[in-house]
Amino acid sequence: MKLIPLPAFADNYIWMLHDGRQALVVDPGEAQPVLAALQREGLQLDSILVTHHHADHTGGVAALRKATGAQVYGPATEAIPEPLTRLTGGETCAALGLAFRVLDVPGHTAGHIAFYCAEMDGAPLLFCGDTLFSAGCGRLFEGTPAQMLASLDSLAALPDPTRVCCTHEYTLSNLTFALAVEPGNADLQQHHIFCQQLRAEGLPTLPSTMALERRINPFLRSRVPAVIAAATAHDADMARDTGTFATLRQWKNIYR
Ligand code: ZN
Ligand code: FE
Repeated sequence: MKLIPLPAFADNYIWMLHDGRQALVVDPGEAQPVLAALQREGLQLDSILVTHHHADHTGGVAALRKATGAQVYGPATEAIPEPLTRLTGGETCAALGLAFRVLDVPGHTAGHIAFYCAEMDGAPLLFCGDTLFSAGCGRLFEGTPAQMLASLDSLAALPDPTRVCCTHEYTLSNLTFALAVEPGNADLQQHHIFCQQLRAEGLPTLPSTMALERRINPFLRSRVPAVIAAATAHDADMARDTGTFATLRQWKNIYR
């Protein structure tokens, strides 16, 4: 199996997985990069997985279905171009001969789902849309901080070697914020240098791994004393009233 991030728009990735004959894509915000990759690699599109309704994740779905006849899988409660198989979380979705467990991860949007495959070529695989980013998390457009924290906790419980396939290349700016929260975190300092090198060469910083995210992502670390202290130093009243996670999310929204 090959796992390829297809760049789209300014900073999206459309993840493509293929076995040399059949392919699946996740969150195709536009059709053209997918059609070009199918043509280039001589592939048939078998399925399209959709994590949430935002246009930068769904804009290419209708055109790709029309061009390829691919099966579409998406969240039960969101507006996604029909026809599709609607998933609520808890079920298994079979695509490309792999079993993906569907995870209900509300917060960025109310019906956001993620797709987890326990084993693909020796390691687990997670397509998490805009819920978890490397060193960051999605904005809370339709959910509460408590919902998002519970969603991120459920992702953080996945095994260490899980490959984390996020939909945006936001890693460098997320790392800048993460370093403002935890300037003394050596893993974070090291990963920042590594990602600066990758980006200077035009390479993606993804996929990440869950083991790495637990060490560098402030939104998975809201119970770590240094992170609690940083949120309190940023806004003691907010940290006391709304908690560390909500304070971090609010701080990130205004951080430049
Ligand atoms: Zn989104
Ligand atoms: Fe997005």
